[in-house]
Amino acid sequence: MKNDLQAMASISGGPATGPGKVWLIGAGPGDPELLTLKAVKALRQAQVVLVDDLVAPEVLAYCPQARVVKVGKRGGCRSTPQDFILRLMLRHARQGRLVARLKGGDPCVFGRAGEEARWLAGHGIDCEIVNGVTAGLAAAAACGIPVTLRGVARGVTLITAHAEDGSTPDWSALATSGTTLVVYMGATRLEEIRMRLLAGGMPGATPVAMVENATLPHQRECASTLDGMAEDAAGFGLRSPAVLVIGDVVAHAVRGGFAELGDASGESARKLLRRA
Ligand code: SAH
Repeated sequence: MKNDLQAMASISGGPATGPGKVWLIGAGPGDPELLTLKAVKALRQAQVVLVDDLVAPEVLAYCPQARVVKVGKRGGCRSTPQDFILRLMLRHARQGRLVARLKGGDPCVFGRAGEEARWLAGHGIDCEIVNGVTAGLAAAAACGIPVTLRGVARGVTLITAHAEDGSTPDWSALATSGTTLVVYMGATRLEEIRMRLLAGGMPGATPVAMVENATLPHQRECASTLDGMAEDAAGFGLRSPAVLVIGDVVAHAVRGGFAELGDASGESARKLLRRA
């Protein structure tokens, strides 16, 4: 509370005076209503907001007082963006400002919050992580898919198909993990994922949901199976940002969600899964 009051005082009192701070905030998957109250509270106090791609513009309505800097790759920040962003955060925080670094989804899920928090701490800057709803879990829920389900999936694995060092996940271990696989950044690697999971022993009939722009008004979903997903995604025209939900839970969607999803040819998921 004391910190909050100090923060408010420094905003209303014009130029920043007290020690600065950085919040690493998750803005959620797209639907602005999925923002947390804690994120809103931090945004209201922020003096500088660094915004990534994939953050809904409506979220910025909570920080009209702040200077907003677009730092996403699509926002025009070209040269060594990560290094640039780190230094920008550091500079503002050292000048005593309250800085909000706003990222899509959850900042700790493929969002580099770990590196950034460690780097800031190493430079003596107070840093706080504010969770967001991660896109993969939001995408499943938006289709009525429970990512864990008693007797069907005893866990869920969030995995990226794309690593900067070029390494690939251990798909064969994942194929037999008994967990629902939620794959980020996989839309352009469907054939490879399919082949590796099949080689690892995952049945070709395993249901798959491919969800594009989850939770946004233009969300699109395509129902398929492990065997058919690459071909179906091509027919459907699947585009980034998209996640894949792979596992038997996909066939257990509640409230008509997945059953009403169309596949690439418009066939409903339930019919498709019966055929598989
Ligand atoms: N920190 C983010 C993930 C960033 S990585 C989070 O927790 O959600 C970027 C990847 O996230 C995209 O390539 C895509 O796979 C996924 N993604 C982000 N927003 C999405 C959305 N609205 N719908 C589907 N996938 C999304």
